Amino acid sequence: MDPNPSMEEFSVSTLLESYAAGGWFRAADEGQPLLDAATGEEVARISSCGLDLAAMVGHARETGGPALRSLTFHERASALKALAKHLLAGKDEFYALSVRTGATVRDTAVDVDGGIGTLFSFASKGTRELPNDTIVLDGALERLGKTGAFVGQHIYTSRPGVAVQINAFNFPVWGMLEKLAPAFLAGLPTIVKPASQTAYLTELVVRRIIESGLLPEGSLQLISGSAGSLLDELTMQDSVAFTGSAHTAGILRRHPNVIDGGVRLGVEADSLNCSVLGPDVKAEDPEFELFIKGVVAEMTVKAGQKCTAIRRVIVPSRIAGEVEDALAARLAKISVGDPRNPDVRMGALASLGQRDEVRKAVSSLLASAEVVAGDLNGGPLLDGDTERGAFLTPLLLRAAKGAVEPHNVEPFGPVSTVITYDGIDEAVALAARGKGSLVASVVTHDADVARSVVLGLAPWHGRVLLLDRDDAKESTGHGSPLPMLVHGGPGRAGGGEELGGIRAVLHHMQRTAVQASPDLLTAVTGQWTTGATQRVEDVHPFRKSLADLRIGDTIKSAERTVTLADIEHFAEFTGDTFYAHTDAEAAARNPLFGGIVAHGYLVVSLAAGLFVEPSPGPVLANYGVDNLRFLTPVKADDTIAVTLTVKQIKPRNSADYGEVRWDAVVTNQEGSPVATYDVLTLVAKTWPSES
Ligand code: NDP
Repeated sequence: MDPNPSMEEFSVSTLLESYAAGGWFRAADEGQPLLDAATGEEVARISSCGLDLAAMVGHARETGGPALRSLTFHERASALKALAKHLLAGKDEFYALSVRTGATVRDTAVDVDGGIGTLFSFASKGTRELPNDTIVLDGALERLGKTGAFVGQHIYTSRPGVAVQINAFNFPVWGMLEKLAPAFLAGLPTIVKPASQTAYLTELVVRRIIESGLLPEGSLQLISGSAGSLLDELTMQDSVAFTGSAHTAGILRRHPNVIDGGVRLGVEADSLNCSVLGPDVKAEDPEFELFIKGVVAEMTVKAGQKCTAIRRVIVPSRIAGEVEDALAARLAKISVGDPRNPDVRMGALASLGQRDEVRKAVSSLLASAEVVAGDLNGGPLLDGDTERGAFLTPLLLRAAKGAVEPHNVEPFGPVSTVITYDGIDEAVALAARGKGSLVASVVTHDADVARSVVLGLAPWHGRVLLLDRDDAKESTGHGSPLPMLVHGGPGRAGGGEELGGIRAVLHHMQRTAVQASPDLLTAVTGQWTTGATQRVEDVHPFRKSLADLRIGDTIKSAERTVTLADIEHFAEFTGDTFYAHTDAEAAARNPLFGGIVAHGYLVVSLAAGLFVEPSPGPVLANYGVDNLRFLTPVKADDTIAVTLTVKQIKPRNSADYGEVRWDAVVTNQEGSPVATYDVLTLVAKTWPSES
């Protein structure tokens, strides 16, 4: 097979290949046909028959993992950024192929641009929020003994395993990239197994990734076709992230390697998401319109085949009629048909089989519901053939009071059910009957309603969108999982958690509590630890470039006495005439100070004057202060000194300088700390500067 199939070649039947153990694998059999969602024509065939799954897992462990873990987080992040740019530049062919999944251009943007955007987002977070290292520190240092000679620190390290990602049919691109990015940053090689139905699009994207050479060999492999006995090959350092049906999730949960073998399994399964209209909202309020728009968008984008789509429309009884009329009117305007037609607003479901599933779910729902809008036999199409294409026009149902089905049955298509409530408690109880969902919207402009409903809903949801006139313009909408926010929900939604920024990276890593002396802990973490050796040398550390600076380099300053005149001058000069610095009588009555004290910022400013080396040198800027605490008041005539120690050195890959974090401790004449903080500076990599 040509390793670079063009779009024309995809229009004739092609057997999809797997990317396994460093090469493209083609099954020996003819494979199963995959049909165009709208026309029923064969797009490709798929089979993983004969694929050596053990070799794939071995290749990931022995080649991909070590290659990835030899890179720092920042190097991995730059690879992801380069990959995102590469895919963005070539996205037209993904769009062209995506139409065959039944997706409109708008649907494809969610999948393709959403996936590439997720790569960009993780690349940026990896650079900004992770160290240029291969381990991450978690939380503060814990002092475990009396003298500080025994301390504890939590660290995250990469597991020497493989991340298996089993995806659903609805997002062949985003589904892969949103799981790949955090695993890649965490140093774990990925084996991705897309749902067969739309795997031709995933296969094309993986081809472009592999041929770009931007990712280390072995860090991404692809199974086109059945996953077969893949889980049999996994052990305790491996993980499986699954998105799909509760049924398949159940099979995976019962696998012996998950039950007894320590394989970690994350699940995103069925979710009966809801949107709750607040009891405060009237038909003429802007929130009413926002609610209607939100429900219609979630019913129709991707033809309702989104794990986050709104299945339950929970509204106050008094306004239910108006909600139904408004939804019906808007749904009537949705043109359905072949997504190649630019006037079509909603395309086809992914397959005829999927349409059968939705119809079955609708029959179950009709046990306790009636049709409000839409046609059970299928409404008119703008174009397309209902026999060959998996078209389904939107359907809005109304549940009878006390109905059970809408809280149990997930129609994975353009179908929602209106459910009425009286009082906030009932609204919350109804939402909770979904037994755990990915996302809920609460549309209200009332602060009290917002708090009560969100607090009631939060334990049952992974994400809650509060929508009103103030945030509507900027809102990213109910249905969009965002790379920086958690995606996943409790209970029926699977109990898994993906995305959420760096949280998603850390999920893949092992947290370990390390107990040690400060010096050995410094050696392990690469970050100076309180109590570890401090080196005072003749050269002032501000004269050293990043190339010369070492963790533990220290400045022990001269002393300075803080006079009453200093305090008065600072108060007058800055305008900070708070009584504790200016009014002796009032300050004496202050229970914490008992007299005039120096401004905290005066102490920090004087400390800077004590440690700074003033002439031009490699220190380019002070860009901030972290964790500033004033511990003991400084009174007039107290004498202070400061100790500044290099705590962390982070050269930037993309600049000729890096960040240096200094541990600062200001003490008084008794040696007690009066202020502690981290000073953050930018320091040139070499000095005198080469540029
Ligand atoms: P499935 O659970 O059938 O398939 C999901 C993925 O699992 C596919 O890649 C599938 O591969 C794979 N798979 C199936 N059986 C096994 C197995 N025994 N071992 C390993 N992998 C397996 O879900 P679908 O994608 O077909 O979607 C069906 C339903 O799932 C939808 O109708 C909807 O209800 C729900 N769904 C929920 C989502 C959510 O996040 N809440 C998202 C998408 C779907 P293959 O395709 O080759 O069978």
